[in-house]
Amino acid sequence: MTRPGLQVSPLAALTRRNLLGALAGIGAAVTAAPRLSVAADPPNRGEFVIRNAHVLTMDAGLGDLDRGDIHVRNGTIVAVGPNLSAPNAEIIDAETMIALPGLVDTHNHIWNSTCRNLVREGPEKGYFATVMALGKEYTPEDSYRGIRLGCAEMINSGVTTVHNWAHNVRTPEHARAELRALADCHIRSRFSYGHYHGGPSPDQPVDLTDITSLQKNWLAFSNEGLLTLGFAARVFGRSGLPSVHPMTLEAAHRDWDNVRILGLPITAHISGDVAFLQNEGMLGPDLQVTGTRGMNGNDFEIIKNSGTHVSVAPHSDMRYSYTLPKVVELLQFGVKVSIGADTAPVAGSNDIFEAMRRTMDTEFVRLKNPMIVSARQVLEMATINGAWDMGVADKVGSLVPGKRADLILIRTTDLNMAPLGDPVTAVVRSAQPYNVDTVVIDGRILKRDGRLTALNAEEIVAQASESLAGLRRRANWK
Ligand SMILES: [Zn+2]
Repeated sequence: MTRPGLQVSPLAALTRRNLLGALAGIGAAVTAAPRLSVAADPPNRGEFVIRNAHVLTMDAGLGDLDRGDIHVRNGTIVAVGPNLSAPNAEIIDAETMIALPGLVDTHNHIWNSTCRNLVREGPEKGYFATVMALGKEYTPEDSYRGIRLGCAEMINSGVTTVHNWAHNVRTPEHARAELRALADCHIRSRFSYGHYHGGPSPDQPVDLTDITSLQKNWLAFSNEGLLTLGFAARVFGRSGLPSVHPMTLEAAHRDWDNVRILGLPITAHISGDVAFLQNEGMLGPDLQVTGTRGMNGNDFEIIKNSGTHVSVAPHSDMRYSYTLPKVVELLQFGVKVSIGADTAPVAGSNDIFEAMRRTMDTEFVRLKNPMIVSARQVLEMATINGAWDMGVADKVGSLVPGKRADLILIRTTDLNMAPLGDPVTAVVRSAQPYNVDTVVIDGRILKRDGRLTALNAEEIVAQASESLAGLRRRANWK
């Protein structure tokens, strides 16, 4: 078994070399060199059977099972059903638990998990001011520690797939540090290579040299297929979003055309630009957009007919756009909408249970109808729709034989979950990260009996705290 944090991984080697370079550059400002981050071996993929759970397969054909088993061998779901024969499998007793696919977060700027609780009231301490001031001080090691903090929190909270919307890639080494952190956490993820705030000027296309190089050598980075690659686009200058790194339409066309030649999926923040994007020929099944608040009229149908993917981020819509996401209209057109926490400095946490509740509740308020969206629809958004959005629904997102084993167990005997009524309602309305007993990603058990098995939370928090202290000192950020 290789140890990605030591010498064998190109990610590790590049990151360590550049960390040393960064430290040398900082010079006297560094009072003590941070410890190098070293990953532990991942747990083996073994053979186990989850017994007697209430199973939400999130598959239309298999449905829900009041008492069911899930047999997993070497990362693959072998069988789902009652009283399965699995004589060689380790038994996981789940009689008081709900089993369901792992949650999927389809829009998250994970790097700034380090900056949570620094966004305060007033423009000087708002989100963009904070992450731009601290973001420019990030070394690759800071990126590594931020990603690892966010991913450890997500795994602890039942998230098994995350879309890493990486918009602080200041150098190729920052990209590799983020990829190494994702691999070291053993999480499933799309790494969407973005460009930092204040990157290329608005009329300049981005330099795709490094993303092209990554794509060519992706086998060395993909962590056995758990990681995929995408492109995170800059904001259009006309979008109405805060102009943190806008671009002209001409530059956008050059970026998107070149990325589409590479065959990589694109993700973009938008704001009411649907008809415009359609006219420009930019929508399509290889595009994921975030920002439904400006959608109106024919926009929902245009999205559906173009095959464009949509992720909603209820926390940031409310706090930074003073609007509510529009989900129901898209669902009515058959769009497989998914959910993202977006950014811990705004949402406060990377908790998809909370994001599900906000998505549901904001629809009640917006449409003044408490029946307008169901808990099952919202749970689909956070599981199978999310997997579809990330292009991995053939592998994960539902508990079906033949798929890879990304699943979670939620205790129903905790004070906030008991007594168990409707299991789907319990997951969406009552569950918190605290109730997540077991997390499995690609057949590896990464949380068991409520404790992380492969990641040292204490060490990750200490290293993120050390990182933040350095960032604040260098940015002179109180
Ligand atoms: Zn975002």
